[in-house]
Amino acid sequence: MNVWGYWKCPYCGETVRADHKDCPKCGTSIPNDVKFFMDTSKPIEYVDKEQESDEENWLCSYCRCQNPAQAEVCESCGAQKSDALGTYHNRPEPIKTEPEPEPRPKQRRQRDPEPKRKRSIFKLLLFPMIMLVILIYSWYIKPVEREGEVIGFSWQQEIGVEEFNTFRESDWNVPSGGTVVSSNREIRSYRNVLDHYEYKTKRVAKKVKDGYDVKYKDMGNGQFKEIKTPRYKTVYEEKKVKEPVYRQEPIYDTKYYYNIDKWKETDALRTSADDHEPKWAETDLPTNVESPKYGDKRQGSRRGTYWAIIKDDKGNEQRLECSLDEWKDLKEGDKVKYKTSRNSDEPL
Ligand SMILES: [Zn+2]
Ligand SMILES: [Zn+2]
Repeated sequence: MNVWGYWKCPYCGETVRADHKDCPKCGTSIPNDVKFFMDTSKPIEYVDKEQESDEENWLCSYCRCQNPAQAEVCESCGAQKSDALGTYHNRPEPIKTEPEPEPRPKQRRQRDPEPKRKRSIFKLLLFPMIMLVILIYSWYIKPVEREGEVIGFSWQQEIGVEEFNTFRESDWNVPSGGTVVSSNREIRSYRNVLDHYEYKTKRVAKKVKDGYDVKYKDMGNGQFKEIKTPRYKTVYEEKKVKEPVYRQEPIYDTKYYYNIDKWKETDALRTSADDHEPKWAETDLPTNVESPKYGDKRQGSRRGTYWAIIKDDKGNEQRLECSLDEWKDLKEGDKVKYKTSRNSDEPL
């Protein structure tokens, strides 16, 4: 829809509605180089349907008068439209006599983009801010490499001691060689079973129309086209949602309690020292026993843990666990690199 624009009387300064060709206060005629403007402080006056036009005025080449698009000859001097000098929006520079009136709606238009810009700056900064947080966080938890000097060694070794006997065990299956003593129905696992539904109220964000932003486009004939763009706001709604509630239901199975004759580790022979010469415990136990009897013992698996004692770059002693091969190759005075977390000195 089109609304009437205004022009400013160059003589008395009166704001005159565009469909008046003369100032009602002093009688001055509308200037040839008129520039219409909107004044939103005045009531919005819609143009009658039959008067509405989107075509701009043309400029008479003889008297420079503005004429409506429908006029084939100048309303003032009768010159032909085909000889027109130009149009309202595309006219030769007028000879300036009076400073152009400052259109009032500018004030409002200027205020408008402010919050938009703020919002977009926030949006623009959001991503880098998230990245920065992730970066700082990963920097903090990322292990750092530090160097220390080897000042000593430490080790601990053990030989498992296995005993051959009848052991009572339980499982969901009986291994070969096992003799079932008893069985029992027991809970093996749980599964989630739908129990009931619960209704919850949730807050949901929703965009709703919140009036219009109105702009006026100068049609070049005293009329301005009203351009409405809907404005939205976010409102929160309480919404009922159906949520399933599960309960844990046990799954039963048969558990077997059985006796089984086997070798099983029951003890260990430990040795340890703070030096570079690891020794295994001395033992008379055989490494294997053919056709064992109950109560027979033998050597089981061998394992060890080895540490280099290092002085870190702050002068503190740290124990750095190494593989046996690494450990064997190290000498006192060697520099070793190790990983530690940023907020601690201890090797990882
Ligand atoms: Zn006037
Ligand atoms: Zn004319």
